[in-house]
Amino acid sequence: MALLFLSPDDPADAWRAQLQARIPGLEVRIWPEVGEPADIDLALVWRPPPGELARYPNLRAILSLAAGIDGLIADPDLPDVPIARMVDPSLTRTMTEYVLLAVLRHHREFDRFERVQRARAWAYAFPPQAADRRVGIMGLGELGSAAARRLVAHGFQVLGWSRSPKALDGVVSYAGRSELHTFLHRTDILVCLLPLTADTVGILNAATFAELPHGACVINVARGQHLVEDDLVQALDSGHLGGATLDVFHEEPLPPDSPLWTNPKVLVTPHVASYSVPAIAADGVAANIRRVLAGEPLLHQVDRARGY
Ligand code: NAP
Repeated sequence: MALLFLSPDDPADAWRAQLQARIPGLEVRIWPEVGEPADIDLALVWRPPPGELARYPNLRAILSLAAGIDGLIADPDLPDVPIARMVDPSLTRTMTEYVLLAVLRHHREFDRFERVQRARAWAYAFPPQAADRRVGIMGLGELGSAAARRLVAHGFQVLGWSRSPKALDGVVSYAGRSELHTFLHRTDILVCLLPLTADTVGILNAATFAELPHGACVINVARGQHLVEDDLVQALDSGHLGGATLDVFHEEPLPPDSPLWTNPKVLVTPHVASYSVPAIAADGVAANIRRVLAGEPLLHQVDRARGY
């Protein structure tokens, strides 16, 4: 039983130690020191090179280090084995924190204060109470529903949009394309937490922005390909949108010549909205490794046809 660990961004040694503490005897091979490919039963991965996972003839399951698996299933040579996505309390907590922070920053107009400070302007502003601010979350899954609960607890009016209707305390649920217009019309601060699929690619576009009320703000913490960046810049420059917080981009790292870097209404963060802490996330991964060993179905298994 050997597990392949492949990620350019995650701490391999910490993951190995945490997994071995939970499953004594588990052999963890850290890419590219893989040894004999036929030994590999399981792969724990983030952004493997396309075609890489096809090299392991005995692979039984793929465990994603990320919640979004769009990059994985885009690989035409991906082996036809079950895939589990990352669902982990540290990932959820950090995303909830980021969303709350970004929403509060727009709500209390800190984005504007940051701009006027540079002009040494003492500019009063008294934004509405949270109870009068409507935050709309696209995607009410693991991350979106946790963020929604936190925003409700803070006193915001919270709306959610998903494929199927949801019953979440204090959240007004909208579902499907037919209810998207109403959802957008009623949203002052829009948060995107959708998976990237054929249905959601480019969903943050000029038509979507036009449906938001004048002065609305947009927070994209899902995937860069959800956003049509030129449409956002136009909507900000025209004054229709009041601001944006972007954590994800078409091209990462964001190229130095991107106009997003210098747009005064845009806050750029380098894909850090949420992250897994191995000491916490290893519980869920170890549970899935045991399931594979026992021949049981994975927790949080991805539906490849649905794309998430
Ligand atoms: P999830 O649990 O799978 O939830 C996805 C949600 O999106 C569900 O509510 C789903 O609706 C909804 N949805 C999917 N397709 C839709 C469509 N066509 N129309 C309307 N709603 C749709 O995913 P998650 O764990 O919350 O993660 C969401 C995404 O966040 C990930 O896929 C990833 O791209 C992104 N992410 C970003 C970071 C970062 O650091 N920036 C970190 C982690 C994750 P149903 O409930 O009806 O199925």
